[in-house]
Amino acid sequence: MAKFKHVLVIPYPAQGHVTPLLKLAHCIADYGVKVTFVNTEFIHAQVMAANPGLDEGSSRVKFVAIPDGLETDEERKDIPTKMESILSVMPDHLQELIEKVKKQSDGNEDEQISFMIADLTVGWALEVAERMGIERAGFWPASASALVMTLHIPKLIEGGVVDNNGFAPKNDLITILEDLPAYKSNDLVWSCPEDPAIHKAIFKYLSSIVHHSKRTNSFLCNSFRYLEAPACSGIPGALPIGPLMASARLVHRRGSLWNEDSTCLNWLDQHPALSVIYIGFGSTTIFGMEQFYELAHGLEQIARPFLWVVRPDLTDGPVTEFHDGFLQRVRNYGKVVQWAPQEEVLAHPAVACFFTHCGWNSTLEGLSNGVPLLCRPYLGDQFLNRSFICDVWRVGLGVDGDENGLITRHEVRKKLLAVLGSEEIRANCLRVKEMARKSVSEGGSSLKNLQSFVELMKA
Ligand code: UDP
Repeated sequence: MAKFKHVLVIPYPAQGHVTPLLKLAHCIADYGVKVTFVNTEFIHAQVMAANPGLDEGSSRVKFVAIPDGLETDEERKDIPTKMESILSVMPDHLQELIEKVKKQSDGNEDEQISFMIADLTVGWALEVAERMGIERAGFWPASASALVMTLHIPKLIEGGVVDNNGFAPKNDLITILEDLPAYKSNDLVWSCPEDPAIHKAIFKYLSSIVHHSKRTNSFLCNSFRYLEAPACSGIPGALPIGPLMASARLVHRRGSLWNEDSTCLNWLDQHPALSVIYIGFGSTTIFGMEQFYELAHGLEQIARPFLWVVRPDLTDGPVTEFHDGFLQRVRNYGKVVQWAPQEEVLAHPAVACFFTHCGWNSTLEGLSNGVPLLCRPYLGDQFLNRSFICDVWRVGLGVDGDENGLITRHEVRKKLLAVLGSEEIRANCLRVKEMARKSVSEGGSSLKNLQSFVELMKA
């Protein structure tokens, strides 16, 4: 009789990766699969502190941790240093962990790791699995369109579209697949307009995925066919299984790295339907002080209810003094939290639009809840996501910088009003929301893919 395997799931150590992989881990555990979830020691401590009880009880998902080779917070915030350390230190620790599990299993095959789902951004883990004779699949936490671009890096270099550091010498549109909209040259998945060194480091890191991806034939994608049909068809072995959402069952299992301030849900309860602007720029966006002030002034001037996530490290300078005055002035209509239960916020009927950095999880969460988006990307695939949001799915607008690249308070106000007032955008949002719901419902394409993947994992 077919039996389930013991599956190891490993994300890249960052919020936007831990969350979708943890949701996937719980989804497959619900089919009776035993899962061991591997975080770095640092992330593990954060997740456990912010989610007490996550690893207790009868859950089939067990948490373990391995070192990331980094010493300080500063090192972890420095993207090139972090990527280098992950690549050089973690593979050996992962192998040791799998060997340890084997040893502890005392010959019991059911206990030994027999399948691995690795975030493709830690694609080296697939090599560890291959070396150890473990079956495996990759998981891609961004859009399928971003995966297409990443897997085509060698061809982009060969064709002179990008140089060896991932910079596009020309401003031309980039056609990778015929059915896929052409990519803009400044929508490269490894973009970092504010820092060329980071651009280069991300490009180098993503380039390694091309090699590692050859270690598997299955690519689980947190997307759905309706949203990205040409990209999904353009990746042999793609299994779109998204959107992986925090359903009522999963809501406390998404692995926030910080304590969620749920007072904002009560605050939202006090507002009428479609009245609140939600502003959240994910876990890594950093604003210069001038830009931060402009955003704040824009929100102040619009004088509509708003809920804004201001992480303690959202700016590159101290905001305390400004903050106090600002909070005083907007006290009748604005609420600021350090970290929100974002999926519940976006599902709340009071929310009218989402001012976002276009991280893929945030994008999917907005789309799944039918919330119009205002886009201000910061890094990486967020630029590509903005183009899809604004030009392909037409579910939002972008904010534009002035001649110095600054997004002014007037621009913020103007575009927020435009998004809030657009019937067309709202109608498109509702259509995409419905298709997202169908994809993960009984008979839907994503659910079917997930079910056939679970079948594949049976011995
Ligand atoms: N998030 C959250 N509370 C916040 C801000 C973000 O729970 O206040 C979650 C959000 O729901 C999403 C993740 O953090 O699942 C951020 O992932 P995303 O890909 O959007 O952006 P990243 O942080 O990777 O840039």
